[in-house]
Amino acid sequence: MRAAVHTDAFELSLQDWPDPEIRAPDDVIVRVGSVGICGSDKHDLDHFPARPQIPGHEFAGVIHEVGADAAGFKPGDRVLVRPHTRCGKCGECLKTPRGECLSPGVFGCRGVQHPPGAMAEQILVRAENLWKVPDNIPLAHAALADPLAVAIHAVERGPSVRAETCVIMGAGVIGLLLAQVLRLDGAGEVALVDVLASHLEVARGQGEFLTFSGDDREKLEGDLNALKSGIFFELAGGEAPTLDAAIQCIRPGGTVLLVSQRPGGAWINYQRVMGNELNLHGVAGVSDEAWERAVELLFSGRINAAPLITHTYPLEEATRALDTACHGDSLKVCLSPNPDLMGC
Ligand SMILES: [Zn+2]
Ligand SMILES: [Zn+2]
Repeated sequence: MRAAVHTDAFELSLQDWPDPEIRAPDDVIVRVGSVGICGSDKHDLDHFPARPQIPGHEFAGVIHEVGADAAGFKPGDRVLVRPHTRCGKCGECLKTPRGECLSPGVFGCRGVQHPPGAMAEQILVRAENLWKVPDNIPLAHAALADPLAVAIHAVERGPSVRAETCVIMGAGVIGLLLAQVLRLDGAGEVALVDVLASHLEVARGQGEFLTFSGDDREKLEGDLNALKSGIFFELAGGEAPTLDAAIQCIRPGGTVLLVSQRPGGAWINYQRVMGNELNLHGVAGVSDEAWERAVELLFSGRINAAPLITHTYPLEEATRALDTACHGDSLKVCLSPNPDLMGC
């Protein structure tokens, strides 16, 4: 099969790769219909890989082949794949069917415990990772379950959002999904901050949200202070001054949820966190509950997914897709490795 393989820093090369084979009764081979490029992919692909690896963990497709015991799944089923894997061999995996694996993985990540990802025509998965996608939901929309689950888990980690003014620093895919979740959860005002006007425009198209440009720090801090919000979600990451602005503008006793990656660390105004008794909560990965709810919200059509998918490329243009995802004002950039499944 053809696969986009991470061979060098920031490079994906199209290679012939062995077709996956059924080895266990609950193995399933999925033909990938859509795989999204995630912020963590960009971070991973920045580095030289420890071994050639096929990236891609946000995906959905159509079942090609099943093992002898694939829990009711059959060839032709449209499926969403949960990206978190278990080794199936450690003490915890053997003890209970859904135990806390001691060596958990994610499809397509860099380390050796991670199985190959979905930027390929086919991928080997296990039946326990599959959810059947309703006919009226496009595969590319279903594949937003992972970023949506991250947004839901961020809400889980904070205090109740009901009737509370919430501020989202960074209106990328997760920020825009989070805004919709906050609406569903009964939040009061929901404000989104971004430096890209196009992202804020998508936000305004999605509902009654306040939007603020991050360009003028002084003006932004004035506007945010006036909101007297008690919950900030930090999603801009990198070296963006948004974490500092959140700590500066949040109400005393408020909570900042730290969702985005900041590999270089971050300076924080200790005196302000201490003096105002602020809470800083880390958010990493997703919980089982967050995953289940993400699937339910997407499959019932309660999330407006279409405006979030701005680009779709064939597999041979993987490097171009990565470039689009990292620069400019794209939102979710997807690859569609099988031409016959594009748009399905
Ligand atoms: Zn992801
Ligand atoms: Zn295990």
